[in-house]
Amino acid sequence: MKAPYKTEQNFREILKNFDDLNDPRLKDTPRRAAKAYEELLDGYGQDPVGLVGNAIYSSSMDDIVMMKNISFESFCEHHMIAIAGYVTLGYIPNGAIIGASKLARIVDCFAHRFQLQERMTMEIADALQSVLNPKGVAVYMDGQHFCISRRGVRKQEASLVTRYFLGEFRQNPALRHEFLISAGE
Ligand SMILES: [Zn+2]
Repeated sequence: MKAPYKTEQNFREILKNFDDLNDPRLKDTPRRAAKAYEELLDGYGQDPVGLVGNAIYSSSMDDIVMMKNISFESFCEHHMIAIAGYVTLGYIPNGAIIGASKLARIVDCFAHRFQLQERMTMEIADALQSVLNPKGVAVYMDGQHFCISRRGVRKQEASLVTRYFLGEFRQNPALRHEFLISAGE
């Protein structure tokens, strides 16, 4: 007998409000749901310093480094319903660059929690600033919130756009503009 996932019993309680838990077709559903949700919410166990590790490399690169269209999935903390979208991250090195995959890992570390997109945008920027100490950080997020698009007001095409800038991106409007053009705004 495999050890239960910590939320397995909770999913059983939810499911029984809607359907017949004794029906064999649903036998493994609470366990599967618990496993899936615990994977999608595994950001709580992570911190950006730990996941970046030693993937920071000295470099004389001094122009904008960007990773575009990093997909993310998260859950809105008001409804616990999915958010899905894309992030574009940029920074200006200050003697060091970061392994490109780590940019995506920083995004997931915050996306895999119950979130507000506005806060997540700032958290991602602050984390990159603290692990790499670049001259500037820029974050652009475009998210579709299923609590808006699929129920409630049902605005299916609406997406929430948030941006946040630190350092040179904050001080220099031309640099910010250049980032936003490249980000596809
Ligand atoms: Zn919501």
